[in-house]
Amino acid sequence: MEKDLAIQKSIFSKISGIDTNKGDDFYEDLYKRCEERIDALQAVNPFTEDELEEVLVEEGYNRRDFMKWVSATTAMLMLPGFFEPLVAKTVQVLNRVPVIWINLQDCAGNSEAFLRTDGPTVDELILEIISLEFHELLMAPSGEHAEQQLENAMTTFKNEYLLFVEGAIPTAENGIYGTIGTSGETYVDHLVRLSADAKAIVAVGTCATFGGIPAAAPNPTGARGVMDIVSNKPIVNIPACPANPANMLGVILLYAMTGELPELDSLLRPKFAFGYRIHDACERRVHFDAGEYVEEWGDASAQAGHCLYKMGCKGPVTFNNCPTVKYNRGTSWPVAAGHGCIGCSEPGFFDKFDRFEAPTPFNPNYNPASDFQIAAGIGLFAAYKTATQEESAQEGYHGE
Ligand code: SF4
Ligand code: SF4
Repeated sequence: MEKDLAIQKSIFSKISGIDTNKGDDFYEDLYKRCEERIDALQAVNPFTEDELEEVLVEEGYNRRDFMKWVSATTAMLMLPGFFEPLVAKTVQVLNRVPVIWINLQDCAGNSEAFLRTDGPTVDELILEIISLEFHELLMAPSGEHAEQQLENAMTTFKNEYLLFVEGAIPTAENGIYGTIGTSGETYVDHLVRLSADAKAIVAVGTCATFGGIPAAAPNPTGARGVMDIVSNKPIVNIPACPANPANMLGVILLYAMTGELPELDSLLRPKFAFGYRIHDACERRVHFDAGEYVEEWGDASAQAGHCLYKMGCKGPVTFNNCPTVKYNRGTSWPVAAGHGCIGCSEPGFFDKFDRFEAPTPFNPNYNPASDFQIAAGIGLFAAYKTATQEESAQEGYHGE
C-alpha cells in the first residue's frame, strides 16, 4: 500500500507539473542541513527506538511496517529516496517540537481524525509521540488548571512552539459568539495572543483555514479563517473536513527535520499535499476519459465503478491528496467508496459546492498537462495497480 502511494505520487507529480526535482546540489545541501539539525535535536532527550517500537507494537505494527511507512512518507514529502534514513531518525526527535493545539469554533473532527483508536495508522500513532504541550480536549486538567498549563507551555516554549488551530474564529459582535471559560477572552483575542509567541501557526481543517461550515451563508457569527485574523506570523493551511492526519504529521516532520515550513501554494497549503488536483490522481479517471459515467445511483455504471462527474463529483476543481493518501488505514476515500468528492478542502466550501450532486463546470483557469501525459500516467498507474493487487492478494491484504 505504501509503495502504491509512492508510485502514484511520482506519476502524478510529473503530470501536475509540480517541481519535484530541484537538482542534486539542492538535495545534498538540504540533506546536510537536516543531518545537523537532527543531531542537535537528538542530543536533547530524544524518543528512543525502543519507545517508538513499543507504540507501534501495541497496535500491531512491526519494524518492517514502519520502514514501509518511512519510504511512503519520504515520497509523499517529495524528497528523494536517500532521505529515508533521515525521515526515520526524525521520528525519534518529534518530541522536541512543542505543539500547542487550540480548538475554536469547530466540531473537533480534526482532533478525532488523529485520535481514532480503532485501527490507527502509523501516522496517527506517530502523532501520539509529538510533544503536545496543550490540547484541552485531550488533557486531564480543566478550568484554571488548564489555563495555567497553557501559560506554562507558552512561557517555556516561547517563540518555539507550533500553534495548531482547529476551528473557525467568530468575529461578529466583537467576537462574543466564542469565548474562553471564566476568563471570557474571545476566540479572536485568544488566537492573537497565542500567535504572538508562536514560531508558526498551522491551521487544521477547513474551518480554521477558510471558515468552513461555520462560515456558510448566512454566517451569523461572522466566522473567518486564521489567515483572515493573523497577519504577522508564518501560517500553514491544512484544509479538509477533517484534515488528513498524514498531512498534519507531514508538516511537523518536515519542520522537525529541516527547521523550516514546507513549500506553500498561494493559499498557504503545503504543495506536497495540495499540489495535485483530485481528478488527476483518481482511479476512476480512465472512465472519465472514456466517457463512462454513473447516471443514477445504483445503476450498472455505478456498480462498474465508472466516473462520478455527472453525480456531482468536485474532483475536477479540488486540490488534495485524498486519492493517494486515503483514509481509514489508507484503505479507501470517498470516490472509491462510491460518492463523488464534495470539495471539502476548497475555499468557499460549503456554499460554493452546496449542490453536491450537480455536475460542476471545470475550473477554466486550470491548465492541466497534455492529455497524452495524463493518459500515459493513468495507464502506467493502472498497470502498476494490477501488479500490486496481485502482490497484495499473495500477502493476504484485501484493502482497496
Ligand atoms: S470526476 Fe470525480 S470520479 Fe470522475 S475521474 Fe474526476 S475525480 Fe474521479
Ligand atoms: S475526497 Fe473531496 S470531499 Fe472527500 S475528503 Fe477529499 S477533498 Fe474532501
